Amino acid sequence: MSAAGNHPFKLTIDDDTCRHCRRCMAGDACRANAFVRFEYDDSPFIDMSRCWGCLICTSVCPFGAVRREDYGAEARTFAG
Ligand code: SF4
Ligand code: SF4
Repeated sequence: MSAAGNHPFKLTIDDDTCRHCRRCMAGDACRANAFVRFEYDDSPFIDMSRCWGCLICTSVCPFGAVRREDYGAEARTFAG
């Protein structure tokens, strides 16, 4: 796990898969408070600047709505 916001991947919520649960279990499991939702019936989004990179949320969402997208090796090299 690296510092908040410094990860070789980003996490997103797939809006078609997310069931807009009244209580987001993935968000509840996030100890970094990186899940943000403005309306209870919206999909949450993940503030990667807060994320610790533990990936717990990817296994906690029962519908697999949390998606991990790895940055390519080229992008990592470019980013230093
Ligand atoms: S991310 Fe998963 S747990 Fe959270 S509201 Fe969407 S479907 Fe429900
Ligand atoms: S990877 Fe960990 S810190 Fe980042 S959003 Fe998921 S549960 Fe929160």
